Amino acid sequence: MTDPAGPADLVFTGGHVHTVDPELPRADAVAVRGERIVAVGSAADVAGLIGRGTRVVDLDGRLLLPGFQDAHIHPISGGVDRLQCDVRDARGRDGVLDKIREYAAAHPDDDWVIGSGWYMADFENGTPRREDLDAIIPDRPALFPNRDGHSTWVNSTALALAGIDRDTPDPTDGRIERDPDGTPTGTLHEGAGHLVERLMPEVTAEQMADGLHLAQAYLHSLGITAWQDASLRPEDEAVYRAAAEAGWLTARVEGAMWWDRSRGDDQVEELIERSRTGSAGRLRLNSVKLMQDGVLETFTGAMIDPYLGGDGSPTDNRGISFIDPERLAVWVTRLDAAGLQPHFHAIGDRAVRECLDAVAAARATNGTSDTRPHIAHIQVIHPDDVPRFSALGVVANAQPYWACHEGQMDVLTIPFLGPERSTWQYPFRSLLAAGSRLAMGSDWSVSTPNPLLEIEVAVTRVADGSRGEREPFLPEQALTLAEAIRAFTAGSAYVNHLETETGTIQAGKLADLVVVDRDLFAPDAGPIGDGRVLATFVGGAAVFEGPALG
Ligand SMILES: [Zn+2]
Repeated sequence: MTDPAGPADLVFTGGHVHTVDPELPRADAVAVRGERIVAVGSAADVAGLIGRGTRVVDLDGRLLLPGFQDAHIHPISGGVDRLQCDVRDARGRDGVLDKIREYAAAHPDDDWVIGSGWYMADFENGTPRREDLDAIIPDRPALFPNRDGHSTWVNSTALALAGIDRDTPDPTDGRIERDPDGTPTGTLHEGAGHLVERLMPEVTAEQMADGLHLAQAYLHSLGITAWQDASLRPEDEAVYRAAAEAGWLTARVEGAMWWDRSRGDDQVEELIERSRTGSAGRLRLNSVKLMQDGVLETFTGAMIDPYLGGDGSPTDNRGISFIDPERLAVWVTRLDAAGLQPHFHAIGDRAVRECLDAVAAARATNGTSDTRPHIAHIQVIHPDDVPRFSALGVVANAQPYWACHEGQMDVLTIPFLGPERSTWQYPFRSLLAAGSRLAMGSDWSVSTPNPLLEIEVAVTRVADGSRGEREPFLPEQALTLAEAIRAFTAGSAYVNHLETETGTIQAGKLADLVVVDRDLFAPDAGPIGDGRVLATFVGGAAVFEGPALG
């Protein structure tokens, strides 16, 4: 049989096609013409579509998935981090210092040496020292925030430039790590880091564009075809729009415009206008990012009941609601009425509840809209609030890579939540069981953007770095591989308002596809996170292709 519309441009055959389409969950072959999928089925179903000009990819038993969509990510800053001295892949103190030495030598003319991504556990007491940096960079200021951005490592030149010495008091929003005699050691916590950061050369628009370019190539190499940028400032928007207009924005991007919490409703009209005029190419601006609290490790996550002290007794600290909850309800109602999507950051159970209450207020006033509000991070959810996600049509936007036992969880979180609330963390299974929609994302560059590593933790609840060594974290909340893949594809496509065109492999949809080097569903596939992406397609065009595809 030959198709009257002509042969396909691209055919995948001979593999496991995991479609995420409940009507036809599994197939062997897919045909693509132009930017769309034209057939999904068996080798026989696509045979008639293979012509002389058709590229045929023999999957050879490997896996074809819909493109991954990251529902909460910061690609521009992540890319800029990678342009600078990124030590995320270095192992141990010596590995980090080697990486910095190499970078400093390769950039002798930079006025500052700037990098990021060290891990607290690699240094004694979690706090690296200035002398280590001084030995490598004696004559220029050097500044390195850690992986989560809450602590900053600097050298003596940077301390001197900022005028920080043993007589400098701690700022109200931070702490200077000191030796017993008061001398700064070189680690600055939270707001103390700003004392040096404010002197740093500003990131230019050109560096931001280079960062986005690098980030996009990196994310495509991991199988990511679309994302939601979780904090779009006007200057980020300009970088994306320029990329779209120049024709190199190959990813599909939903931008969550940053809600400036130092301002009020006066910004609503501006956001509506940006949403109306900001779209270009594959860029859409329909979302607004509302950051409702901080993080548990610094006790800024907003909790219903107080944190416990180090000795297990209650304190009077319930964390911080960054936006007054009554105002949050008013603003979310306005944004929802204007057709804008609320994208919340909520970590503590009170912050989650305040965001749900705000959506409930919007629903009561506006009726059920199609704005698809979503709450990112959802670290602690009060059990009473779990069913409210589906009842209110709020998507749970999970960062599954955090749902495991590691230093931040075991040392900095569980003791301060106590035994009961510790079991309310990352309740992905309970959310699904209650009928919620689940989307997934990485929060890169806080954590790895590799969806296969994140999916592994969603399934095993064990960090890839401690496979076989640690107990799973709340294993009753684990997902199946198919559920986690669904969240990372169709689930995130839904929050991006892209689900009618992407998110599953179905005839008629856009050909956003990923080839993985092994069938992850096979019993001998090995750890999920060891899988490698061989090729990524957006709208039928290869945006990443490794040599091993064949
Ligand atoms: Zn984020």
